[in-house]
Amino acid sequence: MPPYVERIYPRSASEAPIKYSVANASAYRCSRTLNSSPGGLCFETDQRLVPEEEVCVVMDNYKPDQPGPERYRSYLTRIRWAKSISPSPNERFIAGTQIVACSHEVLISTGEERCHVCDLCGALMQECLLHGTKDNAQLCGPCHQHYCAIPDGKISECVERFLIGNVV
Ligand SMILES: [Zn+2]
Repeated sequence: MPPYVERIYPRSASEAPIKYSVANASAYRCSRTLNSSPGGLCFETDQRLVPEEEVCVVMDNYKPDQPGPERYRSYLTRIRWAKSISPSPNERFIAGTQIVACSHEVLISTGEERCHVCDLCGALMQECLLHGTKDNAQLCGPCHQHYCAIPDGKISECVERFLIGNVV
């Protein structure tokens, strides 16, 4: 045995406080992410999660202007694997998940609200929260703010053409 216990994941900017809720459970549990990539989140849990289960993850420190997992407020994820990292009675687990959708709002899993992706960043939003551009691209709040900040002229025409290219 080495004289130290190696961390399974190095500390990184991806270590962030979260709340998560397993599909159909109304209560959120507090935890933290350990690792993330554009396609997945890895986080600690105090319950054994089963592959294919859907889990809603809400970031406690939402920072839309920063890189990393906190640039979205919430994620819908699907469990890919889970393993125990400490023995009973306070057994804890690490769950590896695949990101199914991300949002600047807390995703509602009831499926009652119609959702649509932002044509610029791809975030899933409730339709009523999207803003239309003059050529009818649909943008989330933060993207719409950036869009509105572009002065009229060549660049704004290019952006508009890019957005329409995305939607046609
Ligand atoms: Zn957007």
